[in-house]
Amino acid sequence: MARNYGVNFVIVLLILVFSSCIDSQDNWVVSRSQIGSQRNVILIILDTLRADHLSCYGYYRNTSPSIDSLAAEGTMWANAQAQAPWTLPAHATIWTGLSVESHGTNNPLAVYADDDEVVKLIYTLDSNLPTMPELFSEAGFSTRGIANFTILSEVYGFDSGFDEYSCHPDGEGRAGISVDSLILWLDDHSDENFFCMMHLYDIHSPYNPPVPYNTAYQDDSETEYFDWEIDGSDILNEDGRDLAIDLYDGEIKWVDDNLGRLFGWLRENHLEGETLVVIMADHGEEFLEHGWVLHGSTLYQEVLRVPLIMSGPGVEKNVIDSTFVGQFDVLPTLLTWAGVEHTCNFDGTDILNGFNEDRVIPSSGTSNLSWRESRYKATTVHGYLKTLMSGDLEEFVTYDLFTDPSEQHPLPGDSAGIEEVLYYWASPQIGTPGFAHTDERTEQILHDLGYI
Ligand SMILES: [Zn+2]
Repeated sequence: MARNYGVNFVIVLLILVFSSCIDSQDNWVVSRSQIGSQRNVILIILDTLRADHLSCYGYYRNTSPSIDSLAAEGTMWANAQAQAPWTLPAHATIWTGLSVESHGTNNPLAVYADDDEVVKLIYTLDSNLPTMPELFSEAGFSTRGIANFTILSEVYGFDSGFDEYSCHPDGEGRAGISVDSLILWLDDHSDENFFCMMHLYDIHSPYNPPVPYNTAYQDDSETEYFDWEIDGSDILNEDGRDLAIDLYDGEIKWVDDNLGRLFGWLRENHLEGETLVVIMADHGEEFLEHGWVLHGSTLYQEVLRVPLIMSGPGVEKNVIDSTFVGQFDVLPTLLTWAGVEHTCNFDGTDILNGFNEDRVIPSSGTSNLSWRESRYKATTVHGYLKTLMSGDLEEFVTYDLFTDPSEQHPLPGDSAGIEEVLYYWASPQIGTPGFAHTDERTEQILHDLGYI
């Protein structure tokens, strides 16, 4: 253990030295052009929502009538890829417009203290990287952030740039309260240019939709809760898969109904014509499609294919776009839509005004889950060809997502795909994440979830 302490201590020192060498820029926003009337943004991030469980994405259950109507009034991307399979790196991508290998805010790091005690430190956002709330704030927007998971708290840097930020450490079941808070804030700020971000955690495991949503898709009113029981690398309650999905879908319906209240309020207050509403997720969820559950340890499409819907002035209505896009495209797209000119470099691009579709969409950042070692560490999608790479850089498989969207028939690694995923893996890191000491409660929550 003492040996690990020495190595890690040197690494920490080196990172601190390097981070002190990075120039920070105070002003990223060059100007804000006035595009017609007022332009506001409401970004809604639904934790753990896989795209194919929304009715507008073709799901057989009517889980999302409110989101469906928003999609009908806007553009829906059928192939939006998460850049990471779990909350921290995916949100860091949404905040920065960078891939995981670029921003570097990824896995927890264990450092060993002198007395062999393990001190766990979690990466935070690099405070030198410009983020979505900071850029909107700098451009003169009033900013409000509502988050519902401990890892998005101010400790990790996600609050920077918000005039007002609230983060509940464990926001299960708080969709109603969060929507109420947002409406309350909007009521006071609707005559200003505003940028709002609301992250809802309800859909995340355990699956426990509030009454009566627990019976939306299963009949037993006594059943309100399901969580996976995992012992080592065994899932003890695999036969509960159907119930898990029934309750997961019930949570989607509960969240969708609350979003319906928000959309109704926007209509009643005549903000539709000047507000861009964005629906997305940080990652999806596995239900044994590839032998595992939850999310974070694999890079299959059940975890990476996420919803992305935008509706507002200037956005084409009733369009389903099948071009592959990424979470890192959201920030540059929102800035362009809002008329914000800047000097930032993003890995993503504006996807509302024509762009080079012949590009590689990368994902990585599998978490160090205590219960399962991840096999594949990075993947790239180019067109419909998706190539996965093992952690030792020895194994590559390719899937044709057009003919095999559920990734059941691995092909030998495609040579162009292998080159692309290796190139991504070797790309230089731009961000230098800081470290956050976790408090006891945070540590317990992260431990229970298997992150540390
Ligand atoms: Zn998440």
